[in-house]
Amino acid sequence: MSGGQYGRFGGQYVPEALMPAIDELTDAYQRYVLENEAGFMDDLAERLETFGGRPTPLQYADQLSDRYDIDVYLKREDLLHGGAHKLNNALGQVLLARYMGKERIIAETGAGQHGTATTMACAHLGMPCEVYMGRRDVNRQRPNVFRMRLNGASVTPVDIGRGTLKEAISETMRDWAGSVETTHYVIGSVVGPHPYPDLVREFQSVIGSEARDQCLEKLGELPDAVVACAGGGSNAMGTYDAFLEDESVDLYAVEAGGDSLEIDREAGVAPNSATLSTGTEGVLHGSRTKVLQDDDGQIMESHSVSSGLDYAGVGPELAHLAEEGRLAATPVDDEAALAAFHRLSQLEGIIPALETAHAFGFLEERGDDLGDTAVITVSGRGDKDLESVIEESFKRDLPEAPDLSLFTTDQGGR
Ligand SMILES: *Cc1c(COP(=O)(O)O)cnc(C)c1O
Repeated sequence: MSGGQYGRFGGQYVPEALMPAIDELTDAYQRYVLENEAGFMDDLAERLETFGGRPTPLQYADQLSDRYDIDVYLKREDLLHGGAHKLNNALGQVLLARYMGKERIIAETGAGQHGTATTMACAHLGMPCEVYMGRRDVNRQRPNVFRMRLNGASVTPVDIGRGTLKEAISETMRDWAGSVETTHYVIGSVVGPHPYPDLVREFQSVIGSEARDQCLEKLGELPDAVVACAGGGSNAMGTYDAFLEDESVDLYAVEAGGDSLEIDREAGVAPNSATLSTGTEGVLHGSRTKVLQDDDGQIMESHSVSSGLDYAGVGPELAHLAEEGRLAATPVDDEAALAAFHRLSQLEGIIPALETAHAFGFLEERGDDLGDTAVITVSGRGDKDLESVIEESFKRDLPEAPDLSLFTTDQGGR
């Protein structure tokens, strides 16, 4: 196999039944995405502009720049249709499926963000869509379940196991193995077997290529630091890609430090999702990468206050770049991310997704040694997180949080 290796990481660890689909997708990726056959990439760019709202702005952040004494620029993916970067990839893959002559889309989703972006793309392109979601997640993420249903998709709860993302992925794989002729499986991050990590990076690379052009146009030079949060790593890889060859630009991946970085591998529980920082080499979801696993190689339950970062693996290319020293992975814990959520809301009038807030927690901790200019990707907006932020801030008595006492219930009958 030629493609899909990033040093020791990557590859195609899939059942034989899926190989024809993987080969077909690899071929379509080469032709439509890399060679722009039939004008595919032009079609996608047009739709990202008119349906998605691209290009997204690169915004100078006055208050943050003052606070950290460094020029901070924000790449505003929160302004993309749907409120996060996820549409870049979902629209790309669903359109690719249409060019490939597929008739049906399947996807799996945990918190529902990737599922929602996929159903939006499917409605836009007139493609039937089925989203698998663990039963427990269906109950925890009702608004996103409604969004997907409103977009005309069917949402299939998965009752096996703990009823979360892991089981939903198995169920989607099972579906795909029996439907490869007609169906495309949309993976939501730079993970999975080759060609998915490449494919998703290409679709997300519009973030960094726009940002790099915008830097040259606005500043006349490249930034010293580029920062993004990393769960699976798609907004991070999409941001870094255009800067990889620019040796003067330092790349930072901010991971979910959760409650603690201490992992009890015997007990099989990870109180974080900082896979690059605390994981070990293994195979997860079709590729060799860094994973959170116990002493027997079983995937551990991970933890983060932000559901979008709560994943026991990470994209193989990120694992490789971190190992090579091209990017620095840094964990930011739940509390620092929550504080940053409030800070960004108060200082800049931007309520970020909790995932995104981790990148700003990093700015608070490391703002001093990032050079003169930093670009930070605002991967998404925080409307989806308001309930949990209020609850968590209350519980922790966060000094950064506004006075939330108007929500107390002891109002004596009023
Ligand atoms: C899903 C999500 C993430 C994490 O996914 P990556 O693939 O690591 O980008 C980060 N931010 C937001 C807003 C998300 O919705």
